[in-house]
Amino acid sequence: MKTIGLLGGMSWQSTSQYYQLLNQEVAARLGGLHSAAIVMVSVDFAPIEKLMRAGDWPACSELLVAAATRLAEAGADLLLLCTNTMHKLAPEIEAAVDIPFLHIADATGEKITAAGMQRVGLLGTRFTMEEDFYRERLGQRFGLSVTIPDKAERQLVDRVIFAELCRGEVSTASRIEYLRIIAALADQGAEAVIAGCTEITMLVSPEESPLPLFDTTRLHAERAVDFALAPEI
Ligand code: GLU
Repeated sequence: MKTIGLLGGMSWQSTSQYYQLLNQEVAARLGGLHSAAIVMVSVDFAPIEKLMRAGDWPACSELLVAAATRLAEAGADLLLLCTNTMHKLAPEIEAAVDIPFLHIADATGEKITAAGMQRVGLLGTRFTMEEDFYRERLGQRFGLSVTIPDKAERQLVDRVIFAELCRGEVSTASRIEYLRIIAALADQGAEAVIAGCTEITMLVSPEESPLPLFDTTRLHAERAVDFALAPEI
């Protein structure tokens, strides 16, 4: 089994889910006492969040490249960046290490395509929803057409992520708002919705979502287990 490298802490709420999902998935596939081989570097999110808000992406990149390098040195065979938003810096991180980097949008796009869907709604931080790095990849690599909520809704979705979910707060009022926003995406023609932030399924489960919900955390973790358990060629 290959060793999975987790670059986590953004936030630790979802990184703890990655840890559980990876171990559950390996146990389900191999049985018995099997569990995932993992090394992790988990960062302090507060200073990084400040840099993001200030638009200081070069400083974020420097921190994450250093963390990724430590993971490779610690023996990771592949790298998982446990946040959608920081995939804005995927090119820099990927270039800095020799181990494979499993992009979260690819793990998600593959599953949406396999499900025969083409028009998807996207929920995430305002960076993920509004900037090109995520939507363009889904469009260019998987032919997906991506719809995002309107401005006021995007602000709400982003605020709930940073002010509540990343702090471990799960509120019924925010759940109702998210469900309303997903229903609005369905009205705009979306066939499914991407939970494009690794904390969103703390709030909304696939069962209660008005649209089929693609959980990036789970899909990313499952793809990593595929890779970790693939036979050596
Ligand atoms: N975990 C989140 C994501 O998947 C948001 C926190 C961050 O900005 O990294 O985008």
